[in-house]
Amino acid sequence: AKMAGRNTVRFFDPSMQAMATARADLEKDLRRALAHNQFKLYFQPQMYRNDQVVGAEVLLRWQHPERGLVSPLEFISLAEKTSLILPIGRCVLDAACTQLKLWERSAYSRQFRLAVNVSARQFRTVDFVEQVQQALNSKGINPELLELELTESLVLENINDTILKMHALRDMGVRFSLDDFGTGYSSFSYLTQLPFDQLKIDRSFVRNIGVKTSDAVIVQTIIGMAHNLGIEVIAEGVETEAQRLFLEQHGCHACQGFLFSKPVPIEEFIVWHRRLRHQ
Ligand code: C2E
Ligand code: CA
Ligand code: CA
Ligand code: CA
Repeated sequence: AKMAGRNTVRFFDPSMQAMATARADLEKDLRRALAHNQFKLYFQPQMYRNDQVVGAEVLLRWQHPERGLVSPLEFISLAEKTSLILPIGRCVLDAACTQLKLWERSAYSRQFRLAVNVSARQFRTVDFVEQVQQALNSKGINPELLELELTESLVLENINDTILKMHALRDMGVRFSLDDFGTGYSSFSYLTQLPFDQLKIDRSFVRNIGVKTSDAVIVQTIIGMAHNLGIEVIAEGVETEAQRLFLEQHGCHACQGFLFSKPVPIEEFIVWHRRLRHQ
């Protein structure tokens, strides 16, 4: 064929077509999921020492009627591309605030913070600050109980917009945590411009404590840097007591990981916490 250029070949590549179809199906499914409330929040505790809960990270799950529980890794990036992350993100924020209100009412724990992951797309919407304020105000929640987790790539993508929005929210009392810290950029000078309350050491370093000396050094360096900046530091993906002990001994303020609990639905979280208090 004379004019069979690259595009023609690509168009008839069956694997490409299969991928496009799968993507379109997933998108349709995602829209349906939103309409039918198939999203569920899971909670993973954040611990001080071995026995004190300081808060929980809210992690999204999709309860798919046929496929069962779907991990956010399988749908967040498509949700970002299709803007579906905007209604989904709003949903997560509202649900987190509802949970905070329930806890406050029951006096279960007024100290628990909830950490919510924010996607770049969501953070960049012009009314993001108002959205958060509305979620908090509509339920009358102490803003200090809400923590927003932002990644390095998100904050650096448009530093001026980031500075404005973070300061506006920070003035209201909202907390900020820098997620997956250490995986991205090598220049940390931007940190002094941004009002973060906490750095979150990425799981990839925590995993190698006691395995790879250079990663243990990175962990120590991050903790030292947080101390110098006067902010807190938490480690994610803590799976062993040896990792926890290393982190505690080097001044890490809090830990999160399977050592304590995997992310679980709220009912399980409460049962788990009750058991923790009575042991
Ligand atoms: P992330 O924010 O880095 O969340 C931590 C991930 O590590 C979670 O995966 C959690 O289940 C997992 N994890 C926690 N402790 C351990 C451990 O000890 N060992 C191991 N191997 N893994 C551990 P998950 O829940 O599958 O979430 C994946 C990612 O999806 C999150 O990574 C976050 O980037 C994104 N995500 C989750 N929920 C939301 C959400 O509501 N909004 C947005 N925008 N993104 C979300
Ligand atoms: Ca996170
Ligand atoms: Ca993380
Ligand atoms: Ca991570």
